[in-house]
Amino acid sequence: MITEKPVCVTGASGFIASHIVSQLLAEGYRVRGTVRRSPEHYPYLLQLPGARERLELVEADLLRSESFLPAFRECACVIHTASPYVINVRDPENDLVKPALEGTAAVMEAAGKTATLRRIVLTSSVAAITDEPDSTKVFTERDWNTRSSLQRHPYHYSKTLAERAAWDYIGQNKPHFDLVSINPAMVTGPSIVPTINTTNAMIRDIITGVYPGILDINWGFVDVRDTARAHILAMEKEEAGGRYLCSAGLMHMRELVELLRLSGYADYPLPKRDLTGRLGTSLMTALSWTLPRDTGTYIRTHIGRSIRYGCSKIKQELGISFMPVMESILEAADDMVRKGHLAPSKKP
Ligand code: NAP
Repeated sequence: MITEKPVCVTGASGFIASHIVSQLLAEGYRVRGTVRRSPEHYPYLLQLPGARERLELVEADLLRSESFLPAFRECACVIHTASPYVINVRDPENDLVKPALEGTAAVMEAAGKTATLRRIVLTSSVAAITDEPDSTKVFTERDWNTRSSLQRHPYHYSKTLAERAAWDYIGQNKPHFDLVSINPAMVTGPSIVPTINTTNAMIRDIITGVYPGILDINWGFVDVRDTARAHILAMEKEEAGGRYLCSAGLMHMRELVELLRLSGYADYPLPKRDLTGRLGTSLMTALSWTLPRDTGTYIRTHIGRSIRYGCSKIKQELGISFMPVMESILEAADDMVRKGHLAPSKKP
């Protein structure tokens, strides 16, 4: 533990943030979590070990800029995770960009007025690194997403604008605290929160046969507990700095389906049709125009290409080692069954 002062976690009710809160409490920290409703709505946070003694929940909203200053009072560190993580929104400007960007600006302004603050750890994303694989390139922290817009990958756009705004604030104001960003790939694993997260929902959709077949697509994945750990190490390590790309490994959809088939999910309607060839990719590209806008764009910019990430910086500087992606995905699936997001297997 590096400080007796409180650590503030924004969006404490989130999939990643709840694991950050849980790990901070386990390490003995005093935690202040910001939430959008009154504390009794979050029994899963209030029941965490150590919560009764050291967790305080306070209300704050990304669109109410004045709400963060009281939340940061006397804090040594702020871990800013709150941001909408949704795709296929009706109004990308108001549903994604405004809360992400205005919220980050509000957090930076409030931080500037909090004399005790030493560091902000920002949950950014690989979405702020790129919105499109490039088969000739290994993406690293040096890369910035320059292509997204309100029309093209608005979630990626919101994350890019928010992270840029945070770095710009540091560059322009030279404040008394510094900034470190964690840029996770697809975060999976078991949830403390009862609702289902967007990334785990994608795995559920694969298991329940939403996809017409196996597509030529791959993803970087990282376990939620490792992601939380990375945030805490970024807070604790004095020498940490800059951006940290956070991906444990890559998995192609074919491998993911095979893993699930061999691990107790064979009697679910897993996709069977092989659409990984050139014909399949052309068919899916044509079909993508009939899908919800963001899903369609995602398919057109991702199928038939392979994403690759270089994650040596986070391993070397934060000293983190990641659990295998396969384990994390299976734990996520089993957890979704336990929580009722997936029907149990009909096999005895
Ligand atoms: P999540 O479970 O949906 O959490 C999002 C959090 O943001 C929730 O606590 C939510 O509060 C809060 N939030 C949304 N709009 C808000 C507003 N207007 N005011 C205050 N709080 C607001 O998603 P998550 O996966 O944990 O994501 C957390 C962060 O990680 C996000 O910044 C996301 O971009 C980033 N990220 C996620 C992944 C992933 O695969 N999961 C990967 C890379 C980066 P409510 O509970 O009240 O809705």
